Amino acid sequence: MSDQTTEGQLRHELDLILGRLERHDRAVQTEARAEGARLVGDMFADAQLVASRNLDALSSERLSRRARELVNALERVRDGSYGTCEECGGTIPAARRQALPGVTTCVQCQERGESLRARPEPVESISRRPRSRYKNLRRDEAKT
Ligand SMILES: [Zn+2]
Repeated sequence: MSDQTTEGQLRHELDLILGRLERHDRAVQTEARAEGARLVGDMFADAQLVASRNLDALSSERLSRRARELVNALERVRDGSYGTCEECGGTIPAARRQALPGVTTCVQCQERGESLRARPEPVESISRRPRSRYKNLRRDEAKT
């Protein structure tokens, strides 16, 4: 079965991510230490440090999320449920599994999930609506 290569592929990516997380944590710690030694009262520098620390937190969070996904996928390879859609129980095509190692849903379920998740986002719709209305207005003007 091709599950052997799948497992190897997943393990390989998990190793890479865990390695990156480790280096990442070390870099953040080093930065924190240097920061403590510096202790300058410059407000602009402080703001920059805070901003860069937030970015670090974000990307390491993303890395750990991916690591959890891969661990989950490896468990599924072991219990034989890998390649089965978590939502509808259908089979995820091998090509999709190859392209997205660790994927847990079929294309249809993912798209449905994304459109459901995309809807309750007021920030985007607020910033987008006035612009498209303006565009329609201009298009109407051009026609007449
Ligand atoms: Zn599905």
